[in-house]
Amino acid sequence: MSITRIGLAVFVVALIAAWFVLNPGQYLGVACDGQVFSLACFESQRAALGELAATNGLLFAAGFFLIYIAVTAISLPGAAVMTLIGGALFGLVEGTLLVSFASAIGATLAFLIARFVLRESVQKRFGQRLKALNRGVERDGPFYLFALRLVPVFPFFVINLAMGLTPIRTRTFYWVSQLGMLPGTLVYVNAGTQLGQVESLSGVLSPGLIGSFVLLGLFPLIARKTLDFLAARKALAGYDKPKQFDRNLIVIGAGSAGLVASLIAATVKAKVTLIEKNEMGGDCLNTGCVPSKALIRSAKLMHEIRYSRRYGIRSASANFHFQDVMDRVKAVVATIAPHDSVERYESLGVDCIQAGARLVDPWTVETDDGQRLTARHIVLATGAVPFVPAIEGLADIDYLTSDNLWDLSELPDRLAVMGAGSIGCEMAQAFARLGSQVTLIEQGERILSVEDDDISAQMRDRLVEEGVTVRTGLKVTAASRNSRNSRETVLTCKLGEREVEIRCDRVLVAVGRQARTQGMGLEELGLIKDGRISVDEYLQTALPSIYACGDAIGGYQLTHAASHEAWHATVNALFGTFKRFAVDYSKLPWCTFTDPQVAHVGHNETSAQAASIEYEVTRYDLAGLDRAIAESARSGVVKVLTVPGKDTILGATIVGEAAGELIIEFVSAMKHGIGLNKILATIHPYPTLAEANRFAASEWKKAHAPEWVFPWLARFHTWRR
Ligand SMILES: Cc1cc2nc3c(=O)[nH]c(=O)nc-3n(C[C@H](O)[C@H](O)[C@H](O)COP(=O)(O)OP(=O)(O)OC[C@H]3O[C@@H](n4cnc5c(N)ncnc54)[C@H](O)[C@@H]3O)c2cc1C
Repeated sequence: MSITRIGLAVFVVALIAAWFVLNPGQYLGVACDGQVFSLACFESQRAALGELAATNGLLFAAGFFLIYIAVTAISLPGAAVMTLIGGALFGLVEGTLLVSFASAIGATLAFLIARFVLRESVQKRFGQRLKALNRGVERDGPFYLFALRLVPVFPFFVINLAMGLTPIRTRTFYWVSQLGMLPGTLVYVNAGTQLGQVESLSGVLSPGLIGSFVLLGLFPLIARKTLDFLAARKALAGYDKPKQFDRNLIVIGAGSAGLVASLIAATVKAKVTLIEKNEMGGDCLNTGCVPSKALIRSAKLMHEIRYSRRYGIRSASANFHFQDVMDRVKAVVATIAPHDSVERYESLGVDCIQAGARLVDPWTVETDDGQRLTARHIVLATGAVPFVPAIEGLADIDYLTSDNLWDLSELPDRLAVMGAGSIGCEMAQAFARLGSQVTLIEQGERILSVEDDDISAQMRDRLVEEGVTVRTGLKVTAASRNSRNSRETVLTCKLGEREVEIRCDRVLVAVGRQARTQGMGLEELGLIKDGRISVDEYLQTALPSIYACGDAIGGYQLTHAASHEAWHATVNALFGTFKRFAVDYSKLPWCTFTDPQVAHVGHNETSAQAASIEYEVTRYDLAGLDRAIAESARSGVVKVLTVPGKDTILGATIVGEAAGELIIEFVSAMKHGIGLNKILATIHPYPTLAEANRFAASEWKKAHAPEWVFPWLARFHTWRR
């Protein structure tokens, strides 16, 4: 916190303390000794004040106005009594005007003080957790503020200070406060005009009056709901809503997102239909996570055999046919397929249709075979396809993508992989380990660009060490077949101003994935923005009856993100009338399944810096971990970001064997607010890789040990000897 901020905080606290310590009431007589801002004190001074008001009208009013502002600005208790006094001294109209402006100005000053002194540090420390609240305040803040102001049972000074910590605009805060406080001000000033009959503050607010205020307070919330309702009606205007629906929910797409969505709906006894045009299980099962991990396993075995000396095996060799490896990949997919099958889902209560689906209107879906189905809500889970950039000649070279890679029957001698994200790096390493000469081409300056520099450098070194040629800063501009050797592909690339050629047998395009949105009537219904299905934080599209989740909405494009989103989309669709849940990605982990794996949750240095979040870094190097040494898997690190001076975890990145499993400890810790102290106090079995997490916590503890205690401890032990 800056000196100015601390100075202002100290000044305000000193003013409040001085008020209570000096107790100005003691100079005004017995009635005021207890408290200046009390009705008894006012009554004792009423005649003198009346005289002052009569002789110096304007000056007196200005003085009252300024004192009122000061009292509210520094949050002294007394504004309610001053409002009554305002009524008693100035009458209903003048009193209301004075109090209304003074209270709004004072409240805004208090709001600004809180904002100036505390907001930056509160947002810095808790920004991640406050994200949803901030978004809510940005959208609905004025409504909530208005409601709080209308019900004068909420202490106004708390509202002023709390609102200062939120992103609401000062101007909005001012006018909403003035408007919202007006009814209460009127009631109090009016009561003040008959002050003789009011014996205490509680006498002003009868239960009936409080009831009316509560009703008034509910008004803006009801207004908000009404506006939402009208917005929904507007979005759906022009469509004929069916009087009745065949089912509660239709889910389009049976990938990771659609399967979870339909399962949740069936579990809560909704009538749900799941429509899939290709294989059940979508990309993850058929062309994504499952086949890639199966291939990576075979490649790892080959790697271990090649480096068997590391394990004390002088010579080991393996013979393999690439086709057998791919057959195993297919067998793995086939073994898992029943988990996602029509039979299983039908048995769980999901009605499955195998056909292409198209939206006709916000409630109606038409399938390829001409069936028309209606549902009150629809969840779109149509996934993504590999993005293929518009590069001259690429279309003519029979390139590979993650869609058709699994049909390869021959191991390419030379493979060029375009794109060094997760998929590119995983496949580059796997094919290199199986024996291809791999060139990994990345247009950016480094591989795995979402990771921190040191992590991406570590992985680059590892790939290079295993024989992958890593070319960064290289942009492919054209692709062609070699005219003299039709099996050879030539990629023309730009390296700065220079032109570079890369020769290979096959090219794998892994430069990203784009939402699958075409030919389903989505554009016609206005659901597409920037090439993906556009949704709000509740995963609702522009049409309130339609929700979307998974790769089709862009975002993280991971299987577990798709499931997480599917839960939100389905629950919001089925129960959103009562309660909606905003999707939160702050504790979403991901893992790149290279060897070593790179796993991640929350912030890394790159994202924390981008979000201006202060952090401390603690590292634990796997080279010193007993189990990693025993496994000959010493390359890696546990890197944890914490709130400065605290053990609160902001994020963690793990590079190493089984990092994808190890990261789960940090995911749970972050999810449930567990800090490094508690991880340190948790028994981890020996010898495990998971001990690395505990040792990272121990590193943090060592760095935060209270150094001053140790000399005293040394003295204590000397004395005990
Ligand atoms: C090589 C590779 C490796 C990956 N590895 C991992 C990993 O290790 N971990 C991880 O978390 N993620 C991984 N992913 C990402 C993961 O596969 C996706 O994030 C996940 O499959 C997305 O699920 P989804 O349900 O959104 O889409 P999809 O799985 O693509 O499912 C969408 C389904 O909708 C169907 N569909 C589309 N349009 C229609 C229509 N009009 N009518 C009927 N059906 C339709 C499609 O046929 C498809 O089956 C990987 C992806 C790839 C390509």
